[in-house]
Amino acid sequence: LICPYCNAAETKVLDTRASEESVRRRRECFDCGKRFTTYERVERVDLVVIKKDGRREPFNREKIKSGIIKACEKRPVPMEAIEEVVGDIENRVRKLKKTEVPTRVVGELVIKKLRKLDKVAYIRFASVYKQFSDVSSFAQELKELQREPMKVRAH
Ligand SMILES: [Zn+2]
Repeated sequence: LICPYCNAAETKVLDTRASEESVRRRRECFDCGKRFTTYERVERVDLVVIKKDGRREPFNREKIKSGIIKACEKRPVPMEAIEEVVGDIENRVRKLKKTEVPTRVVGELVIKKLRKLDKVAYIRFASVYKQFSDVSSFAQELKELQREPMKVRAH
């Protein structure tokens, strides 16, 4: 790992702390002696999503993220909030402790999160995702949303 101060290649690990999604390492550069912290994502394989037609593919957080970004287009949703949502969804899926998860489960988590994040993004995502089984249930959902006051996120 390269020192961010002097670009030296040799660094010493002073401290390692692992959380569920990342490993935090406190490092010291052998050359300049400066200290810095690195966060390494824990790569966990084996998580597969099962699509509607039965095909399986590796769980891909980037795919979820791009879907959410698309839904949030031109909406006042900061990238930070999207990252937070994606991280939370991934954690929830991992917590199921299953190696195979239907895309429906992941999709429902996204929908639930978007509903709180941004109503327009939620509707966009849900309609693309075909969460609504028929037109009348979609219309009903829209009606309910209109009754709820738009909430402004605190940050
Ligand atoms: Zn250095």
